[in-house]
Amino acid sequence: MNKLAYLLLGSNLGDRAARLAQARADLAATTGNIVAASSLYETAAWGLEDQPAFLNQVLAVETELDGPTLLTACQAAEQQQGRERLVHWGARTLDVDILLLGQEIIATPTLSVPHPALPARRFALVPLAELAPQLVHPQLHRTIAELLAACPDELAVRRYAA
Ligand code: AMP
Repeated sequence: MNKLAYLLLGSNLGDRAARLAQARADLAATTGNIVAASSLYETAAWGLEDQPAFLNQVLAVETELDGPTLLTACQAAEQQQGRERLVHWGARTLDVDILLLGQEIIATPTLSVPHPALPARRFALVPLAELAPQLVHPQLHRTIAELLAACPDELAVRRYAA
């Protein structure tokens, strides 16, 4: 049965917008129909701040894949763009995270859905709220708009005009 997955894309190396476009093409081929895509947002790097700003975007994907298979597809999209994990929190060509997968709750050593950091990160909540403000978080039972209003993260997230 199809579920709606919300994926967060992020890039802060090279031609960031082109990397996100390539990721959309790769994910459309491997995960399912992209039924909605947020605007691009520019965000100061979180964690290690001495690195280029990120471009972020959230996609809504209609998918038949289960969580682990969807994660594999997201990681394949990252690999496609030569992501290197040299430094934790460091610059990356492409990062793809699963924010939500329908109303599923998954807690394994390699996959947590909903993404545990979602309530704490404006760079994920702002684009997600653009697509689905009234969506209810399956564990917190609050809408995305409510989580954004309550988010303590102070990093600026600006709509990006290419
Ligand atoms: P990251 O550095 O953000 O790419 O995260 C690396 C690891 O997080 C991956 O190897 C995944 O196994 C794990 N992970 C756990 N939950 C998730 C999720 N919801 N989306 C993406 N990666 C996840």
